[in-house]
Amino acid sequence: MNNYHRFDCLIVGAGGAGLMAALESSKLAGTAVVTKLYPTRSHTGAAQGGIAAALSNLEEDSWENHAYDTIKGGDYLVDQTAAEILAKDAVECIYDLEHMGLPFDRTPAGKISQRRFGGHTKPNPEYDPSAAPGTPNARPRIPVMRACHSADRTGHMILQTLYQQCIKQGVTFFDEFHMVDLIMEDGECRGIIAIEIATGQLHTFHAKSVMLATGGYGRIFKVSSNAYALTGDGPALAYRHGLPLEDMEFYQFHPTGIYRLGILLSEACRGDGGVMINDKGERFMERYAPNLKDLASRDVCSRSIYQEVRAGRGVGGRDFVYLDIRADTINRYGTSPTGSKVDSRWVESRLPDIIEFARTYLGVDPIHEPVPIQPTAHYGMGGIPTDIWGRVLRNVQGDQVPGLYSAGESACVSVHGANRLGTNSLVDLVVYGRRAGRDMARHAHETPFQALPAKPETHSKELISRLLSQPVRFPWVKLRDEMQRVMMDDCGVYRTAETLERAQTTIARLKEQFLQVGVQDKGSVFNTGLLEVLELGNLLELAEATVAGAVARKESRGAHSREDFVDRNDEQFFSHTFASKDGENSAKVDYRPVDILWTEKDGQKVPKYPLEIRKY
Ligand SMILES: Cc1cc2nc3c(=O)[nH]c(=O)nc-3n(C[C@H](O)[C@H](O)[C@H](O)COP(=O)(O)OP(=O)(O)OC[C@H]3O[C@@H](n4cnc5c(N)ncnc54)[C@H](O)[C@@H]3O)c2cc1C
Repeated sequence: MNNYHRFDCLIVGAGGAGLMAALESSKLAGTAVVTKLYPTRSHTGAAQGGIAAALSNLEEDSWENHAYDTIKGGDYLVDQTAAEILAKDAVECIYDLEHMGLPFDRTPAGKISQRRFGGHTKPNPEYDPSAAPGTPNARPRIPVMRACHSADRTGHMILQTLYQQCIKQGVTFFDEFHMVDLIMEDGECRGIIAIEIATGQLHTFHAKSVMLATGGYGRIFKVSSNAYALTGDGPALAYRHGLPLEDMEFYQFHPTGIYRLGILLSEACRGDGGVMINDKGERFMERYAPNLKDLASRDVCSRSIYQEVRAGRGVGGRDFVYLDIRADTINRYGTSPTGSKVDSRWVESRLPDIIEFARTYLGVDPIHEPVPIQPTAHYGMGGIPTDIWGRVLRNVQGDQVPGLYSAGESACVSVHGANRLGTNSLVDLVVYGRRAGRDMARHAHETPFQALPAKPETHSKELISRLLSQPVRFPWVKLRDEMQRVMMDDCGVYRTAETLERAQTTIARLKEQFLQVGVQDKGSVFNTGLLEVLELGNLLELAEATVAGAVARKESRGAHSREDFVDRNDEQFFSHTFASKDGENSAKVDYRPVDILWTEKDGQKVPKYPLEIRKY
């Protein structure tokens, strides 16, 4: 067979999750990575603010605090065993990264430096339930410095470090190979089909363990912090092969995207003392989250911005507010992490890239003026359901798909539940990338290569030749614009039955029209038009699953805010959504119970993390 490759372990995606898995599996088994981008261009490299681990380097902390925050931050839709593993293993993973050479920022004593991030807390030792509301002692929990960082380039450093280690360890890379199909046979995954971008040729990859680590899909929305390549190819292919996607209705909007452009200004801005202000110059988060204020979770902050705008307090009555990181402002509110006064030089040293983004893309200098911001589509909490070893689940009973794994943003393990805390994605990549890599090698040792079906590339060949031969009746760019607009307006920060129905009808129509699109460029060398059309097809599948979950979930929880069902409804909806294909243009929805842990109290079995109303 031409263009045939065979490896024990095959990983699709060279972001933090894929590289961590490759590093681990290649210790024990032959491993290759297939990636549509050159590895160090993966979106992990854009991560700015930090990676969470309870190291207690600047103040006392514990993995238990981290697990509690993660579960509460996810509005209790978090699988608790998975969250505890995340919080415990985070510590070891950070030291592993350090030993691989990752240049973390340091404290004056030479330890790994840490900063604050939204929703990361510890119990307040001075807490007094009888204290007057709004006073410091009335706060049951206070922010803690838990995010390890390299200035505001943490993800860049992680990606470079992992890539160097993979090269050193002899991992084989297929750079600029775009996966177009999974090879599924007898309910198992046996490999993938990919296009070599430089030549347009199809390649067959045969493997015992296959991992999808293809990252996020923020490009279903109009205003997004995500790179253009984040089109959810992995989850979309799994979905098309009849596998379910979990909790897709929970999509995180990050509060501080540059106005209109969506480019991210990291939460580290607020962790380091910056605040959001409205048209009147008020620090409006005091109104919505009296305890943690600007360091409340992202869903809370994004909704607060919308509330300010709706109340006419957006800047100049418009649809944005300001992020203010000027040293004077930080000093006025006393929000610097150390409590001492800061100056512009300190701000510039902590947030160099972010300050440069605002100067370059907006012509605003954050050292001297506040920056216009609005919520930007940022992170998919949902994805391909997996167990705590990254093994993909085929149904709500938890049966596995032999040979198929997923980790990172494309997966849902689920440690982020209904809302992810900042810095918890990077740690998810390394903790669960590593676990999945280990299990992939184990599986590869225990299993022989299974035969591939005859001509596994037939479907991909037909799809591509249809796209190349079809006349260009519907300009696909218009379809993409319409999808992004309807998802932003009707399935964004706030939703109702009416807006969701509109989104559902529109997406179904766009999927019909998509069958008629053609590609202008008929060539085979670097045909980026063809790839973008394939990616649009994937985005449409994910939009469909997202809306289906949102329609069915008649409650508000975490990032899913229904204006027609404003409260959380634990009786009916304390469970994960599994959306799977039901015909060509619709999805059906099932539910899987949340994994909860129990403990003993006064001789009684009680939930370890009791459900609470989430307040910050
Ligand atoms: C601007 C920004 C800042 C962020 N800051 C932080 C932060 O400070 N802390 C934090 O915890 N999180 C942060 N996040 C979130 C976090 O960075 C991402 O969730 C995480 O990096 C995703 O990693 P990944 O390994 O899953 O995927 P990615 O790093 O996105 O990599 C995906 C890989 O899949 C490959 N791929 C995709 N499709 C295909 C295909 N069809 N064929 C072949 N290969 C394919 C790509 O080539 C790429 O190598 C940030 C996100 C953004 C966008």
